[in-house]
Amino acid sequence: MSQAYDRVYNFSAGPGTLPVEVLEQARDEMLNWHGTGMSVMEMSHRSKPFESILEGTEQDLRTLMGIPDNYRVLFLQGGASLQFTMVAMNFLPKDGVADYVLTGAWGKKAMQAAQLQGDVNVVFDAKATGYDHAPLPHTLTFDGKAAYLHITSNETIHGVDFLRDPSVDLPVICDMSSNILSRPMDVTRYAVIYAGAQKNLGPAGVSVVIARDDMLEKVPQGLPPMLDYRLQSENKSMYNTPPCYSIYICGLGFKHLLKTGGVEAAAKRNEEKAKIVYDAIDGSGGFYKGHAQVNSRSRMNIPFTLPSEELTVEFLKGAKERGMLELKGHRSVGGCRASVYNAFPKEGCLALAQFMKEFAAKNG
Ligand SMILES: *Cc1c(COP(=O)(O)O)cnc(C)c1O
Repeated sequence: MSQAYDRVYNFSAGPGTLPVEVLEQARDEMLNWHGTGMSVMEMSHRSKPFESILEGTEQDLRTLMGIPDNYRVLFLQGGASLQFTMVAMNFLPKDGVADYVLTGAWGKKAMQAAQLQGDVNVVFDAKATGYDHAPLPHTLTFDGKAAYLHITSNETIHGVDFLRDPSVDLPVICDMSSNILSRPMDVTRYAVIYAGAQKNLGPAGVSVVIARDDMLEKVPQGLPPMLDYRLQSENKSMYNTPPCYSIYICGLGFKHLLKTGGVEAAAKRNEEKAKIVYDAIDGSGGFYKGHAQVNSRSRMNIPFTLPSEELTVEFLKGAKERGMLELKGHRSVGGCRASVYNAFPKEGCLALAQFMKEFAAKNG
């Protein structure tokens, strides 16, 4: 499939690779969507055709994730980073406090944004070990007074995954930007879920927010309208013009995922893909070192280092020559990072593992 278009193996952490079938369908429907005589880009968001796209996209996401009826699904702009602020504005009361778990850089950013809105309490911080693990749920302690507990299900930069749904007596708000739809998740364990689309859902420009009704009832009066979850929900994500085209592409992605076995099948594929790369790291006799501790290893983002900066540069160059791009690690962790989201093909993981083996044999 990829060969037909000269496509590379794109290991980018985000925006990430999209399924070729989705891009092909978008291409085929580009100039005339379903006989409307226009592109989805050109459609009124209040038109019947776009209404059907929005409704279908929400319905397919509900099916994929098993979202119960007492949750609203919103499609908002501003990226996951705006959600850091909106979460605190909407759910952190003036006289209250919110608990934050810091398993990496994104959780820390979410906490810092919330700090500007009210009092936060850091209940777990993996900074001392360089953000290489998630807490075991039973080791977390709460004073029970927090309005919510914020976690990041997958830390994209540090490659740290919770690997399980939390089970705590607080409303859990979760940033799922980099592993939503990567495996079955029990939505009922969360009060609010949010995710920027460009990692595992679709293109940049839209964020999905899944919020339980009782949380929306708690939203205070007087927030700026665009930052008010309740208002956005009452207007079904159409308070203003939504990111129509990004929503449409997400919708194509959801249909494609449903057709290929849903999140259960995706989870199996993701396990298999990640294992190929982790095995290459673990089988290298210490030449490659994974960043995250083994029991917190992300299935989506795999940061690893080589013995030296020089070898890293050479490795990246060799990978590029073999059609493997965007493997450079985030500057805060260094080394390399392979992001292997839902749409990333297994063949790319096999090609990377093979090159890693050859490179280590030659330079180890
Ligand atoms: C990328 C990312 C973000 C930031 O997303 P934007 O849409 O660029 O604001 C937040 N959280 C996580 C876990 C991410 O991976």
